[in-house]
Amino acid sequence: MRAIAFQRCINPSCGATTDLADTTFRCPCCGGLLDVAYDWNRLPVPSSLKHFESKWANRANPLDFSGVWRFRALLPFAPEEAIITIGEGQTLCQRADAVAAFVGLNAGRLFLQYEGLNPSGSFKDNGMCAAITHARMTGARRAACASTGNTSASLAIYCSATQLLRGIIFVGSGKISYGKLSQALEHSALTIQIQGDFDDALRRVQEASRQLGLYLVNSVNPFRLEGQKAIMFRVLEALRWEVPDWVIVPGGNLGNVSSFGKAFAELAELGLIPRVPRLAVINATGADTFYQLYEKRGLRWNGGQFDQSKIDDYLAELDSANRKADTLASAIEINRPVNLPKALRALDRCNGVVRAIPDSEILDAKAKIGAGGLGCEPASAASVAGLRQLVQEKVISPSDSVVCVLTGHLLKDPDETVAYHSTDPATSAKLAARGVKQVAFANRAVQVPNDLAAIVQAIESYT
Ligand SMILES: *Cc1c(COP(=O)(O)O)cnc(C)c1O
Ligand SMILES: [Zn+2]
Repeated sequence: MRAIAFQRCINPSCGATTDLADTTFRCPCCGGLLDVAYDWNRLPVPSSLKHFESKWANRANPLDFSGVWRFRALLPFAPEEAIITIGEGQTLCQRADAVAAFVGLNAGRLFLQYEGLNPSGSFKDNGMCAAITHARMTGARRAACASTGNTSASLAIYCSATQLLRGIIFVGSGKISYGKLSQALEHSALTIQIQGDFDDALRRVQEASRQLGLYLVNSVNPFRLEGQKAIMFRVLEALRWEVPDWVIVPGGNLGNVSSFGKAFAELAELGLIPRVPRLAVINATGADTFYQLYEKRGLRWNGGQFDQSKIDDYLAELDSANRKADTLASAIEINRPVNLPKALRALDRCNGVVRAIPDSEILDAKAKIGAGGLGCEPASAASVAGLRQLVQEKVISPSDSVVCVLTGHLLKDPDETVAYHSTDPATSAKLAARGVKQVAFANRAVQVPNDLAAIVQAIESYT
């Protein structure tokens, strides 16, 4: 009899399955991406999402305290004794009226899903707890990733907190922010800095993992995406199980949007939600492969028969123009998103759109989010900047209910924030060098002599 949980090729016309313990993360037949799949008929699925509220009463059990594993009935690939948690997923979905006014939504219609509260400060922990659980199930002793920073921070913290695996991280040279690099180093991951960008690092980590049998935790790993489904479960929970009209997420390697699409498709299939929300993916203009392919060249999922030649042609054009991904939103500075086919499937299922937003608008949105009380990193703010544009285009109406995912914490990348608010020419030159000439919402430090009367006067005139 077939196993209850297994891996399956995402291409419906292939549909090959592979063992749950397989760690190649490629379809054995066609080389395509894999899903974690379940025989739901043989699993105890709750009849209503309200069931999960009762888990709160049982918070002394670490599995019910976890914002991922309390939904384990909806990602049932691991026996309870194998599950790893370090308390991930204690996040907020906060009504944000000040930001709603900025983007043009009515009061009470915008919610910010703040993933900065995770143990390593980004949403990546939702997926990492699931991947590390799977790694443990397969007996792996070393786990590796290439990273723009947050995946490595997350891997490092899980390895050090559990002492179960040795973490090995590949970063491109000079691209990683100090906040994130400091986490990898502090949590004692082996840190390999290669000359090249993220796309180069990702290619190399895949080669090295094959050769050395390292367990790969990049988002090509379908178990990570299982854990990230919980972000949407928590959103629904915070909205009292009402499905919002829109969910907006920044797009880098397109793992999150793929995971969200799978979550909603499964919930609908299980009869746990009456409809799915629409999805919007926001690229930065300097790393907009998904936008170009989906919106400009009409690439679609097409039942799994998507036009690979459109992708190949576009990437070849990037290469021949020697165009590297380039944005201040470093967490989405990716030109070759590994989950592109899964993201196409998610947008097909959830009637999605893609937009690309310039860095200056991303940073302005970030300042507004901060002024509204949530500190996020630049990539996260792409979601709100994209929402603003979609409202201006009238794709989203002011009365729609919208959830923007804030993927990572402000303190991941304080340099950019200080540069934004600074008057110091050397600091703000950093932004100017990357094409951000003007910032709209800088909160400048006020220069005052060391003199009480002058200080009092400054306070009185600025408040
Ligand atoms: C990884 C990351 C992203 C990109 O997510 P994908 O799933 O790769 O599209 C966005 N924001 C932050 C803060 C991240 O760490
Ligand atoms: Zn296949």
